[in-house]
Amino acid sequence: MSSRTASCLCGQLRIQVEGEPRGVGICHCLACQQRTGSVFATLASFSEPFKVFGTATEYVRAGDQGARFRFRFCPVCGTTVFHTEEGESGRVSVAVGAFADPGFPAPRVSVYDCRRHPWVQLPPGTKVFVKDPTPEG
Ligand SMILES: [Zn+2]
Ligand SMILES: [Zn+2]
Repeated sequence: MSSRTASCLCGQLRIQVEGEPRGVGICHCLACQQRTGSVFATLASFSEPFKVFGTATEYVRAGDQGARFRFRFCPVCGTTVFHTEEGESGRVSVAVGAFADPGFPAPRVSVYDCRRHPWVQLPPGTKVFVKDPTPEG
């Protein structure tokens, strides 16, 4: 199985994941816009096993549908590298940009399209949801 490593900007916080992502998606919700500082978040979810290196500061946010997300970011440089959902211990969502790999698989799902900046164009064939079909991931 091939592995990939996502890293914060300074390299202190890293996560190594195995195999292909279970899914890759874009979220346009305002919380993702503010937490990333970008106008949308791109996330890839992976199943266990995964390995974390370095120290993370955590921030917990409750989603619209009551799920609680635990974001991990580097206390040195501030990059959010990954998050987990409480009660879903077998998987992790990793910020695609943290892989620093333009060859990473493209997103196939787009959620919170109601918050999408109108100039943001999605890849052809992307499945679009006005809000979130499942608890945010
Ligand atoms: Zn860092
Ligand atoms: Zn979001």
